[in-house]
Amino acid sequence: MSTEHQRSDVAGVEVSVDHLINGARVPSARTFEDRSPLDWSLLLADVSAGDAETAQAAVAAAAAAFPEWAGLGASGRAVILRRLADLVDENVPDIATVECMDMAMRHESLRERVIARGARNFRAYADLAEAYEERRWSSNGTANLVQRMPAGPSVVITPWNAPFMLATWKVAPALAAGNTVVLKPAEWSPLSASLLADLTVEAGMPPGVFNMVQGIGEEVGPPLVSDRRVRRISFTGSPETARIIGAAAAANIVPFTAELGGKGPLVVLADADLDAAAAVAADQYGDSGQVCLAGTRLLVAEEVADGFLERFHALTDALVLGDSRDDVTDITPMIHPDHLAGVKAFVDRAREAGDTVLRGGERLTEDGLWYEPTLVSPFSNDSEIVQREVFGPVLTFQTFSDEEEALALANSTEYGLSATLFTGSEQKAERLGRALRAGTVWVNCFLVRDLTAPFGGCGISGLGREGGDYALDFQSDLTTVQIREGSTS
Ligand code: NAD
Repeated sequence: MSTEHQRSDVAGVEVSVDHLINGARVPSARTFEDRSPLDWSLLLADVSAGDAETAQAAVAAAAAAFPEWAGLGASGRAVILRRLADLVDENVPDIATVECMDMAMRHESLRERVIARGARNFRAYADLAEAYEERRWSSNGTANLVQRMPAGPSVVITPWNAPFMLATWKVAPALAAGNTVVLKPAEWSPLSASLLADLTVEAGMPPGVFNMVQGIGEEVGPPLVSDRRVRRISFTGSPETARIIGAAAAANIVPFTAELGGKGPLVVLADADLDAAAAVAADQYGDSGQVCLAGTRLLVAEEVADGFLERFHALTDALVLGDSRDDVTDITPMIHPDHLAGVKAFVDRAREAGDTVLRGGERLTEDGLWYEPTLVSPFSNDSEIVQREVFGPVLTFQTFSDEEEALALANSTEYGLSATLFTGSEQKAERLGRALRAGTVWVNCFLVRDLTAPFGGCGISGLGREGGDYALDFQSDLTTVQIREGSTS
């Protein structure tokens, strides 16, 4: 598929298969295959497989470009970041098409919402960084000057789900804070990062400010995160990989954030609007459940369990399994045959362990990558299917007799990324909302996000917080200068 210019045609969109280092496209001698989950026989691209040399070249470029980028100041950088945001908006159709082919998220949601959030990330961080580069106040006879000092090259490593949006969510604050970036996208959905790289060049970003390396995580990842020139690491992915990266970050004493997996409870109290709760519960099958924030553990008050299940099954029956390019599709193929096999193995083990599969539990077709929307009634709250992230269209169903039991079940896993609660009571909304141990708690809503709020996980769902000023603080060295008042003129 690769041409001599190292570009692939993905559904009519030209995508470079190479790294972007110091403003230029750089190939690797080795490549890896990138196939489409929509049709596994379709080879989208042979993508350059970076190695230690690639990682070193990218970090060297980022280190060389850092002083000038940092020296531009927040307003100088904001001009380029806003231009980049405009370019993302102009290119939504192409980015949506490539992302849809590459990881099978629904074209309609990419086109109408998800990609545009990438543009908003660049605009919002340009604004936030401009609004606060330093603060001053007077106390104890000194002037206090607190500044956000750019930290240095920042490595950003992203997972295969929602890759464009998640990359911009982390790249935007790093660049706005004055750091230079090396982005490493996931090998199962590498292509939209390449389009982002093109747009940074078109936006006039100086060479070396934004670099992107492709490759297999275990090969190009370790030399990137252990390079002593790197001053920040921002990671989204699994807890297993976070442990490895965290060890490298600790060795170099580099600040590290990790946004990791989840096993969110979706709690339905007896006084809840059951129609709304069941609709959000059935929605968890969207994107085939490959969503870190998903509410995958349905916890429902005993007295309304039948009414809830009746509504939930009716809504789930109506979901359309199909091609992600088709706007009527609700349930898309899964990302990769290996991931599908992993999801299937989870449900098979649950059956063997004595859990009851209430619906689904099989592959839909022999050749396609769809797995049926599945609901499991666990034998025990200790069941693996309750306690571990499946990252597929698999929910569990449990009931509780009172608020205390609901909370105990909700907070019973090692994870703590998100929690969702349905109740008609204002008091319970606040009381339980505060008591749920999760970085983000939604009450009578789902996936509503304010970019300025802190985002991250409790427990093994993450380390540190990003979002708004939290991300800018993380990407900066905060320094305090104290000048004795009256001592200078
Ligand atoms: P993963 O941990 O396997 O891979 C994530 C990234 O790390 C990829 O780019 C991969 O190439 C890279 N990587 C792998 N080994 C590495 C190493 N040794 N050194 C450096 N980099 C390495 O995760 P995944 O399967 O791509 O993503 C799914 C996971 O991500 C799920 O657990 C999901 O819940 C989580 N996730 C979390 C959020 C969040 O915001 N909390 C968002 C999306 C996904």
